[in-house]
Amino acid sequence: MSHDPPKEPHGFATRAIHAGQDADPTTGATVVPIYATSTFTQEAPGSHKGYEYSRSGNPTRAALETCLASLEGAERALAFASGLAASTAVLSTLRPGDELVASADLYGGTYRLLERVFRPMGVVARYTEASDPASFEALTTPKTKLVWIETPTNPLLQILDVREIARVAHEAGAVLAVDNTFASPYVQRPIGLGADLVVHSTTKYIGGHSDVVGGAVMGPRSLLEPIQFYQNAAGGVPGPFDAWLTLRGLKTLALRMERHNANALELATWLESRGEIERVYYPGLASHPGHALAGRQMDGYGGMISIRLRGGGPAATRFLKATRLFSLAESLGGVESLISHPATMTHASIPVEVRAARGVDDGLVRLSVGVEDVRDLRADLAQALERLSE
Ligand code: PLP
Repeated sequence: MSHDPPKEPHGFATRAIHAGQDADPTTGATVVPIYATSTFTQEAPGSHKGYEYSRSGNPTRAALETCLASLEGAERALAFASGLAASTAVLSTLRPGDELVASADLYGGTYRLLERVFRPMGVVARYTEASDPASFEALTTPKTKLVWIETPTNPLLQILDVREIARVAHEAGAVLAVDNTFASPYVQRPIGLGADLVVHSTTKYIGGHSDVVGGAVMGPRSLLEPIQFYQNAAGGVPGPFDAWLTLRGLKTLALRMERHNANALELATWLESRGEIERVYYPGLASHPGHALAGRQMDGYGGMISIRLRGGGPAATRFLKATRLFSLAESLGGVESLISHPATMTHASIPVEVRAARGVDDGLVRLSVGVEDVRDLRADLAQALERLSE
């Protein structure tokens, strides 16, 4: 797969640094300034330079939105204060009585949003446990307006066929939204595969340094129009400093993802050889059921690995406490390696019977592999695994 949508004059890494980031028109500043202003002075009522009030639009945010749209191969992007604010903006296009079909393996916060915020408002989510397109088709009804997937999924790293699920969604008259947070646009560009909307928690790989929370929605102008209305009407926008930090992180996305991909592939291969581990979930491994599909729709396999320890919950608890370089923390996609326990952390908001049936139980550990020296990361995991038998 090429990183570049048709007709783009520059490659991905160039656009990450330059798209939307021309020298500042008033001062020549090479780096987009932080426009720390809530409002913009007008020459006469309604006569202004394109900006009136920073909830509706801010030049630092606009630079980020232009760059994100370019990297995802989308007509437009809209930035939000968090990934969940971006997801909420997409879901706000649904009305009571509308239905959506989603993959069951989903970030816990998205599940909570669907079940505890949107279901009480009359929007019904149906979940498929299987990852094949036919299982999505089986859940669509004439009321289905949206199909929502993650791929790779959080936390089981399932690979879903974006092209085929887009076809299923379109045949049902629905829109396909892909949460592309786990892959990042460097690794996967769902719009080029037929998806309509892409959603990101920019908190993760896009920001890349675990120092800012944010979100974004990308897609065609026609679909983003009501979402832009919502962005301004509901107001969940990032401040200019957050937009600037995210844009600064984005500049090195290509470099970082190359290292995330390489480190994770090396560690996953090594983890698979360890006796303490029952199963390694990583799409780059030939043993992964989605390996061939991942090879077709992704460039590299990303930086996320999940593992199931043979010793179950007690072994997972010891392992989580034993790593030194891998910090025990929520979140993912930063330069530093993190380790987490989905059952009690990122996916704790999913009822235990629902998530345990899917394999998100106490023995599952998730690794966000950073860009450190891979030998140090392997040594850290090795010493933690060795401590399980002490
Ligand atoms: N989507 C995925 C796949 C995530 O992992 C997360 C957060 O962990 C979100 C969305 C929500 O993003 P945020 O925490 O920026 O609201």
